[in-house]
Amino acid sequence: MSLEEYNKKRDFKKTSEPKGKKKDLSEGKLKFVVQRHAASHLHYDFRLEMDGVLKSWAIPKGPSLNPEDRRLAIEVEDHPLSYKSFEGTIPEGNYGAGEVEIWDNGYYEAAEKTAGKTEDLVLRHEFHRGSIKFILHGKKLKGEFAMIKMRSKDENAWLLIKHKDQFATDSYNAEDNINKDSKVSKLVKTKHKKEKPSKSSSEEDQSPSKK
Ligand code: MN
Repeated sequence: MSLEEYNKKRDFKKTSEPKGKKKDLSEGKLKFVVQRHAASHLHYDFRLEMDGVLKSWAIPKGPSLNPEDRRLAIEVEDHPLSYKSFEGTIPEGNYGAGEVEIWDNGYYEAAEKTAGKTEDLVLRHEFHRGSIKFILHGKKLKGEFAMIKMRSKDENAWLLIKHKDQFATDSYNAEDNINKDSKVSKLVKTKHKKEKPSKSSSEEDQSPSKK
């Protein structure tokens, strides 16, 4: 889903979010960011730099470090690279109105390297095949993960799964790892009391595609 869609949804006279422009392929390490976003529903926006943009998914329950969890991740429109540092208020009446904060960020790399191919190319290929394997180097999220496109259901549904490694844990809830005094947390407390991601992940257990 393109940056065009990103621009169409937003009025940049009213929101302080960055305008969607494609960057040249990045020098150096590929970045990732996870933003915690209190909009009509609280969710986490998971974004991976690829092809000069941020490929983006909305994860209702947030990422997990527990390999048993399969977190539903809904692919949304590409965001501009500059979105990786966006935090703040999206005013009422605008797309995604509410509060955004950076929950985690850092760089990431392809878990499987291919000789003669840039990492960006490897990841783009995996993205189009619907199975991305990568290593996150964040403050909260570390180690190997997979983002797998689901075979059934709607075509934007993926699953984020932690692989077993030294960073995996037995249980994990993103909402236990937040700044409780932030604007996002305050908005969640006042306005979205009933919409906190639940600790149970069982209803999201689905078979990932075997592609
Ligand atoms: Mn969002």
